Amino acid sequence: MKKEIKKIAILTSGGDAPGMNATIRAIVRAGIHNGLEVYGVEEGYKGLVEGKIKLMNRDAVTNIINRGGTILGSARLPEFSQDEVAQIALDQLKSRDIDALIAIGGDGTYRGALKLTKMGLNCIGLPGTIDNDIASSEFTIGFDTAVNTAVEAIDKLRDTSNSHKRCSIVEVMGRYCGDIAYAAAVATGADLVITSETGYSLEEVIKTVKNCQNHKSRHVLIVITEHITDVRELAKQINEYTGFDSRATILGHIQRGGCPTPFDRVLASRLGNAAVEELLNGEGGKCMGVFNNKVVATPIEKALEMKKQMFKGYKDLTTIIS
Ligand code: ATP
Repeated sequence: MKKEIKKIAILTSGGDAPGMNATIRAIVRAGIHNGLEVYGVEEGYKGLVEGKIKLMNRDAVTNIINRGGTILGSARLPEFSQDEVAQIALDQLKSRDIDALIAIGGDGTYRGALKLTKMGLNCIGLPGTIDNDIASSEFTIGFDTAVNTAVEAIDKLRDTSNSHKRCSIVEVMGRYCGDIAYAAAVATGADLVITSETGYSLEEVIKTVKNCQNHKSRHVLIVITEHITDVRELAKQINEYTGFDSRATILGHIQRGGCPTPFDRVLASRLGNAAVEELLNGEGGKCMGVFNNKVVATPIEKALEMKKQMFKGYKDLTTIIS
């Protein structure tokens, strides 16, 4: 028989992402609408173990739909993979009669939610991460905002790069998933995009810059993801091999911040609402995502095994980029 739930908790974990607050708001509002008590856990699984759990009412989530970061805070607790640590978290929830948990974050956060589900607590994972590296959703909450931030910065770099006849190398986030780089490269008319999926070759970079020189370009734009190569060193190599004045810019954590775009706010609201519905239906151990603009629930275990595909819309655009 389905157990009726009365109290649920939310946490945000892993790297913060714009739209996490909009997700928290959606969960609190949908929860209260359905007669639930909703508790906020501060600082991810670390705060859960420490018992940093507070009741949230509607006022707690006013004026946050447009705010970046997460009002609940985020933290990393690698020890959460240990049974005895997760058991403390479970006891914290049980002692407050909390029936279920919604965890917003990346795949590490999903592993924590799966662990708790296996220990008897219904958990739902929501994809809150800028990298778009969760295979069980076409888009993650925060990705669109991060792309907007990168595009705005690259557009500014293009102005100066064009004036001074320079090559700009822009490093963006997305260690395991090049979607930010790809989307930003398409949107800014980049000459080359380098990600973990495309692979990296110095020869190809030099060839691209020389091609642009042959076409009398006033600027060259290369978008590259983090952890591929030392971009400052790459700028020196381009100078050396082509004579084209080159500069590297690392966008870094600026991509994590800022006010979420309407797309992210709507996605956050849909997924937050759907997570509450799943819990009310007695479901747990699932994560929510969107495919073809439809909200889809996938078992977390299966989601963690799925391989992230590069967003299919980008695959056809190699003809435009180089
Ligand atoms: P991002 O994509 O932004 O890095 P993430 O959710 O993948 O987000 P992680 O640091 O990998 O970030 O994970 C967040 C937290 O989830 C960890 O600090 C830890 O508390 C918990 N976690 C990660 N892996 C596991 C695991 N195998 N078992 C239980 N809990 C885990």
